[in-house]
Amino acid sequence: MNSESALREKLATVTRIFAMQGMIGLFGHVSAFDSVTRRVFMSPGMAGDKATTRPADLLVLDLQGKLLDGDGQVPVEWPIHTAIHGARSDALAVAHLHSPYATLFAIAKREFRPVTLQGALFLDGVPVYSEPQLVKTTSEAQRLSGLIGGRRAALLRGHGIVVLGKDIEEMLFASLILEDDTRKAMQAATLGKLGFISPEECRAFATEADWERRAHRAWNYFTRLEARWDRQPATGAGSLA
Ligand SMILES: [Zn+2]
Repeated sequence: MNSESALREKLATVTRIFAMQGMIGLFGHVSAFDSVTRRVFMSPGMAGDKATTRPADLLVLDLQGKLLDGDGQVPVEWPIHTAIHGARSDALAVAHLHSPYATLFAIAKREFRPVTLQGALFLDGVPVYSEPQLVKTTSEAQRLSGLIGGRRAALLRGHGIVVLGKDIEEMLFASLILEDDTRKAMQAATLGKLGFISPEECRAFATEADWERRAHRAWNYFTRLEARWDRQPATGAGSLA
């Protein structure tokens, strides 16, 4: 991937963007894997104000979860990240979020079906991890990673979501789409029957969509928004999740 300082800068930035979007709350965390040094960079766990995360705040772990650098609190669910980074060479960035609308789908055990064109990114589906427990052990995390298989995300029942990407930009983009699509589905459901984007329609859109370019455009847009963010949640309230 990039040099360590560039990777730290990007991971801190995406942590702040998730805070700005109200998607990471108190207990979410994100990670990026340096495939050369085999080290995992991770945002600190609870208690930290994600909106002010800086590159020096990040933790560095090995794939066994040993803390190599950093003095913040290691998230109790660190195995989610190490299991997925260890299992998939195309998952260099992982987010564990409690983003509000996607989490409601996880609570309702609702099968995810795209209702927007961009939802076609999740053409392969989003499985539900059915155990309503924190993912704190390597064996639990490996079960979760196995459930995700080659897909991009999972819903964690009664808990939150896991989203991965080949880089930080793609992980952010996929997380935003999952939250946007679930929000729109819930809001549109109040108007009547949902018009899902069928697998064929998803495939048709996916073949013409340049996901990488879209992800980079989204990155440029959200980094600009974050740079001028005043760090105040719109409502003045924080988020427990
Ligand atoms: Zn969690």
